[in-house]
Amino acid sequence: MSQYIRVERPREGIARVVLARPKTRNAQSPQLLRELDEAFLAAVGDDGVKVIVLAADGPDFSSGHDLKAPFGFEGKPIATMNHSTTHPGIEAHYEFECEAYLGLCLRWRDIPKSTIAQVQGRAIAGGLMVLWPMDIVIAAEDASFQDPVTAFGVNGVEYFTHIWEVGPRKAREMLFTGEALTASEAYGLGMVNHVVPADQLEEFTLDLPEKIARRPQFGIRLAKASINHQLDAQGQRQSLEAALALHNLGHANNLAQFGAVVHPDGAAMIRASAAGARR
Ligand code: ZN
Repeated sequence: MSQYIRVERPREGIARVVLARPKTRNAQSPQLLRELDEAFLAAVGDDGVKVIVLAADGPDFSSGHDLKAPFGFEGKPIATMNHSTTHPGIEAHYEFECEAYLGLCLRWRDIPKSTIAQVQGRAIAGGLMVLWPMDIVIAAEDASFQDPVTAFGVNGVEYFTHIWEVGPRKAREMLFTGEALTASEAYGLGMVNHVVPADQLEEFTLDLPEKIARRPQFGIRLAKASINHQLDAQGQRQSLEAALALHNLGHANNLAQFGAVVHPDGAAMIRASAAGARR
């Protein structure tokens, strides 16, 4: 039984996987990520499902990682073979991030069915990590996209596809300032396929998959795999692994300097800049 994920079948051929933890703005605990993976796996294994929609309950898509959740992954690793929570120093942390963050994101990027993210409100840091691996992104007009985690003394969120999402120049600004992109900015940069009024978001995100579901699904699968091979030919997979290693160099530096894997001023810095943006 899923605690944080709900799966719906709103229309023929469509599975809607919903982040259902709105009280914490869909903060991602390891448990939520594991349940999300299980929901995707079930949808892939169901021949009646042609398109998977990833949606979220509440006003915000996701506030990112749940920093209060117990660290580590219960049970067997899914995406890697070296997950351990007992290794000393930064090793266990690195292994956890290889498994639960980059490993799962790449696994979801390569889902052999089409995937569509439906985004309202804020998608912050880890929020980007679950929506960027999806094939198509539909955003409500109020959606925003933010990676503020250089405030924590690391390079950015663990799925570091920023340059493919918004281009290198905007990626630098996004990471260096920690400020959010609006839905219309994200649309202009090609990160978002469509921006629609909030009250039309759900309907629009169900109409689009119907067009996909009518076509031969093996063709869709081959088109998707071809694009992902092209991303990898551009070096996406290797550069994600390099970025995750540098990210954990940041965690290790924080641990050596401050005794914690994140910079102690990070949360306050992010809160202060959010308050400044609202003024
Ligand atoms: Zn990290």
